[in-house]
Amino acid sequence: MPTTAPSAEPPIDVCVTVDMEPDCPPYLWTWRGMEEGAPRVLDLFAREGIKTTCFITGESARHSPDVVRRIVGEGHELASHGMTHRPFPGLDRNEARTEIRDSARLLREFGDVVSFRAPNLMFPAEYLGLLEDEGFRLDSSQAKYKAKKFSPDGPTKLTRVPASVTSSVLRLPPFIRNRWLRRLPGPVVLFCHPWEYVDWRKTNLRLDCRFRTGDPALEDMAAVIALFKSLGARFRRMRELIPDGMAA
Ligand SMILES: [Zn+2]
Repeated sequence: MPTTAPSAEPPIDVCVTVDMEPDCPPYLWTWRGMEEGAPRVLDLFAREGIKTTCFITGESARHSPDVVRRIVGEGHELASHGMTHRPFPGLDRNEARTEIRDSARLLREFGDVVSFRAPNLMFPAEYLGLLEDEGFRLDSSQAKYKAKKFSPDGPTKLTRVPASVTSSVLRLPPFIRNRWLRRLPGPVVLFCHPWEYVDWRKTNLRLDCRFRTGDPALEDMAAVIALFKSLGARFRRMRELIPDGMAA
């Protein structure tokens, strides 16, 4: 992995993250992404020699424990994406606590878990304390590209690191995508889903879920990693962005 930038600028930090969940929720509730897509994208990360953060729902972990063991075994960060992928804005406080607690307990049977991302990048600020109660240290539930919903910080001890662009941006034509990605300030937080590495192109799934899925999406992820390598980026797991250092 390159460790020096081509200029005097410090290297940009890039977090590649994977939201592991049922296929394109709430439109499908099948598991082809976990069964077929997750191994393919983990193979790519292994070939590229990068460590990523995998936010996984408790139900996905229960469905595909081998994927969870592989995430931990290959040095990626295991992180929580809730239990069922139900959106938090529709949950009362007790339901929200149950989603967070159940996923944390299940995932911690496989490894240490300190980072969280809410489904659909929607997490009410009044629930941040529930994450602290369950021992989380970092939240990546905000989205810089959702201008109206992005509020920099609530009163919380959590490190908050928003996602930089939505997942389908990575599948745009390279001349648009690369110009966009090059301009992002660090830390750059990218995300994708295992179901993007399953070919949905001939289905009637909504367009942003199905375009360039399957092999093209995998090629796009490889190209994005190559772009940031050419810029001298450092690929970091999200927990490494917690100020007191959780690089282990
Ligand atoms: Zn999700």
